[in-house]
Amino acid sequence: MFRTHRGAALAGLIVAMTALSYIAALAVAAATGLREGLPINPFETALALALLPSVAFALSIEALAVGWARSSLRKLLVGGSASSLNDIAYVALYLTGIGRIIGIVGLLGAGLWLEHHVSAGAGLSIAGAWPLWLAVPALYLWGSFWGYWEHRFEHSRWMWSLHASHHSAEEFNVLNVVRSHPIEWALNDVANLLVPASLGFSPEAIAVTGAIFIFQTPLLHSNWTGLAWLERFGVITPAGHRLHHGVEARFHDRNFGEALNIWDRLFGTYAAPGPDIDAVKIGVDAPAGRHNTLDPFREIWLQTLDWLTAVRREAAAALTPAARRAGSLPSHAQCPAGDGRE
Ligand SMILES: [Zn+2]
Ligand SMILES: [Zn+2]
Repeated sequence: MFRTHRGAALAGLIVAMTALSYIAALAVAAATGLREGLPINPFETALALALLPSVAFALSIEALAVGWARSSLRKLLVGGSASSLNDIAYVALYLTGIGRIIGIVGLLGAGLWLEHHVSAGAGLSIAGAWPLWLAVPALYLWGSFWGYWEHRFEHSRWMWSLHASHHSAEEFNVLNVVRSHPIEWALNDVANLLVPASLGFSPEAIAVTGAIFIFQTPLLHSNWTGLAWLERFGVITPAGHRLHHGVEARFHDRNFGEALNIWDRLFGTYAAPGPDIDAVKIGVDAPAGRHNTLDPFREIWLQTLDWLTAVRREAAAALTPAARRAGSLPSHAQCPAGDGRE
């Protein structure tokens, strides 16, 4: 039944979730006194909607390049694996704004408050007078640098429980791009909107750079590994990023870059994809019930509890001298999601 009417059921679900998220956004806005309650902020909505054409482009070009059998489109339309259905759920959470509400509430509104107040005029205005042709490349370079370190931090014991959401994909799909825990989305906003806005970059420069990233990243999660030759020119391709998702320990903590691989090369985390990259198994080792259960809300709740446990554990460990000496950037192999929990 669901299979035959999947399209209609999905459309209905998305409309219902959008309506719900807008009501929740209004409630959050009223409760916090912020009139531009997300996701009603038109700038945010425009950026979220920009995902649609870029995903459509990535799906089409990937199908042309790798053929129907290996394409993300086939996995979405006829594959029906739990991993692909989870991808669709995350897209619905993202586009409707439900995920943003979860993320913002999860961070106790801190991201929203900071974004609103800094964007509202407390900017340092370093880049305020830069023309677009200078501001966009600078912001792109900055965004890729920030993204590298943010991603590296997400692989630490502090954050892995949240980031495992993204790595739980068991097959590469263009839609993996928004498969992340909503708190990670909220943190991304702080990085990609709050920091540039506080440095004085114009909304136009932030929007254009955001559009470039939104155009580039869905393709990164495609099966078009034939682009690997581009890696030597400093960009990360689907092959390099597939290696990052590899489940085997030898692939852990490699290729953190999501746009350029120059930072990985500079900081010693780069690994070039080999000719057998298509055979690399992707996914995570995690406790049962966390991923691909077709119950995304329960998964997100459990992942959040895992994360809170991890933060408490790491904060306690950081206070002991031995733990401080050991450092805080281990491989995620040493800190499976839910460590210390059932
Ligand atoms: Zn990662
Ligand atoms: Zn990824």
